[in-house]
Amino acid sequence: MEVFKKGSNVFKILSEAVSEGIVIVNKEQHIVATNSAANEVFGYAEDELLGQHLDILIPKKYHHSHHSHVDEFMDKSEKRSMGHGRNLYGRRKDGSHFPVEAGLNPFSIYDQEYVMALVIDITVRKKAEQELKHWAEIFNESLNEIFIFDAATLKFMDVNKGAQQNIGYTLDELRSMTPVDIKPDFDEAAFRNEITPLLIGEKEKLIFYTTHQRKDASTYPVEVHLQKTVKENKDTLVAIILDITERVEYTNKLEKEVAIRTRQLQDALKKEKELGELKTKFLSLVSHEFKTPLSGILTSATLAGKYTKEDQQEKREKHLNTITSKVKYLNNIINDFLSIERLESGSVNYNFASFPLSKVVNEVIYDANMMLKEGQTIAYPEGIDTIVVHFDEKILALVLTNLINNAVKYSSENTTVNIIIEQNEDSLKISISDEGIGIPKEEQKHIFNRYFRAENALLNQGTGIGLNIVKTHLENLGGSITFTSIENKGSTFVVTIPITDKDQ
Ligand code: ADP
Repeated sequence: MEVFKKGSNVFKILSEAVSEGIVIVNKEQHIVATNSAANEVFGYAEDELLGQHLDILIPKKYHHSHHSHVDEFMDKSEKRSMGHGRNLYGRRKDGSHFPVEAGLNPFSIYDQEYVMALVIDITVRKKAEQELKHWAEIFNESLNEIFIFDAATLKFMDVNKGAQQNIGYTLDELRSMTPVDIKPDFDEAAFRNEITPLLIGEKEKLIFYTTHQRKDASTYPVEVHLQKTVKENKDTLVAIILDITERVEYTNKLEKEVAIRTRQLQDALKKEKELGELKTKFLSLVSHEFKTPLSGILTSATLAGKYTKEDQQEKREKHLNTITSKVKYLNNIINDFLSIERLESGSVNYNFASFPLSKVVNEVIYDANMMLKEGQTIAYPEGIDTIVVHFDEKILALVLTNLINNAVKYSSENTTVNIIIEQNEDSLKISISDEGIGIPKEEQKHIFNRYFRAENALLNQGTGIGLNIVKTHLENLGGSITFTSIENKGSTFVVTIPITDKDQ
């Protein structure tokens, strides 16, 4: 104690010049001197610590281990710093603890041994260290891939775990590689070109999309975020990589979906448009096609009304016949149109049933007979009385009506319409031939197109829809229609339908 009193001025001057806290203890670990930095760090007034045991500056839980340390230290009498490599804490007057780094310097004066402890409060440094550790953890644990590389050599300097895992290379392997090695779409020149705006300060951040190639050669789409930082005077680039495989897949799926929906919408619009056109067409055809038969019906009805006498029955019947046939003709047009409408809107329903073929053939020929010209005949098919078919009866009637009416319509007086029906194992073949105007060769390929009418048919009434719907219905039901025709000689239409029931 004396020593310090004697030299107290010198000690004071020297110790106050030091920013670290200085605490000097004797062999018994009693404090013999402190500087004001130490007083301040531990929260004591000047001289308040003098004579106190060193324990007062050490948290209680460390007392035991500290004693043995100090004893050992005194024995060895060597300089060393404490607090490196392990956590050392000091205790303030108010009882609070704080991390310290302490350097111990033993010395002896006048045969007395002392230890001078230089104490630094490292609270701030510890905090900074923890913060740094925290950031390092964030860097490493981030699920995004982070690559840091030298702007000059392009060599990777650091790569986080997430990146190593996805790309498949170890950090060691990556350190001898550059971004160009994992970006198949870039060569070095192109990559340097890409990052130039960052390096010359033209941009603060770069975002671009490219592909990364893993060690196993597989690839994945990425979004790259690049920023420049300076580390140890070197321009460094930090790349945060987002693996956008799922986003790209989702986008692709979405785009496909949009394409499908657009197509469906276009189809629906097209259908809508076609139906609209159909209605317009129907109105114009009705006004055109209905006029002649209607005025014929009117004339016949008027004339029939004039033949009031009993012996004029034959004339009356002739006009009534005309009326019936023309009404049937109009009815057929309407049926054809309804067929198109149902086929187009997808609301066509087929009804299968078993029925005798002769029933339908009789009805159709009966109606067609009313339209015959002078000397025209329809040769009734032979050998059909026992045939039973399983088919849509209305459709078969529509098919035969169209074909037989055409045969009658497009041939002149004194000709014959021949109907031949052949029953095969699982199909029925119906041929309808006429000796009429035929279909010009160059127009034959269009004959099943909707609204198509050959040049030589234009003098006759017609809509150009009969053959089109006949073909569509037959194909829907597993049947078919073909024809052969020679202009001015005649035509033969052949229909085949599948049958399930045979002779009964
Ligand atoms: P439409 O008879 O009402 O005009 P269709 O669809 O039944 O309509 O026939 C289309 C076209 O095919 C006819 O306009 C005609 O040119 C031609 N055609 C059909 N059947 C015959 C036939 N038996 N003889 C000559 N031409 C025919």
